[in-house]
Amino acid sequence: MKDLVIKMMKDRGVKVEDIARLVVEAQNRYIPVTLEEANTIVESVFEKHEVQNAILTGLALDIAAEKGVIEEPLLSMLLTDEPLYGVDEILALSITNIYGSIAFTNYGFFDKTKPGVLAKLNKHRDKQCNTFLDDLAAAVASAACSKLAHTYRRKAGKENRETEL
Ligand code: MG
Repeated sequence: MKDLVIKMMKDRGVKVEDIARLVVEAQNRYIPVTLEEANTIVESVFEKHEVQNAILTGLALDIAAEKGVIEEPLLSMLLTDEPLYGVDEILALSITNIYGSIAFTNYGFFDKTKPGVLAKLNKHRDKQCNTFLDDLAAAVASAACSKLAHTYRRKAGKENRETEL
């Protein structure tokens, strides 16, 4: 399932490496992290069933909207990424919720600043419906940021009660 979800994201324009780049850019001020390490952490986020299910659900809605097989008024809301719709963000938060407050705050940062691949997804809205995809990509990046921060802290020996996320 992990490989399928990664392929689905890639086919829609988001590679693991694109998400890893978001992680490096957001975190390298605080934590020394290479693109390779970020890649590994992003891959591990894709292993979680909750993450896979959120992505499957969100992408299914983006694809169905593109095909026009959703009833109005929802169809127009999805195709225009109506700002007050908000369910795309809620689904993304189902991912960040698993990874705690660092994921939550990073998600807010990505959502506001739209760096890297997130900006690209916003520009390509005329070609495909990315209403859920951008939020899901930002959520996976935020989850990886949180996992990185907790792993780094644990390795530094500052905290020995951390459980593996
Ligand atoms: Mg969205």
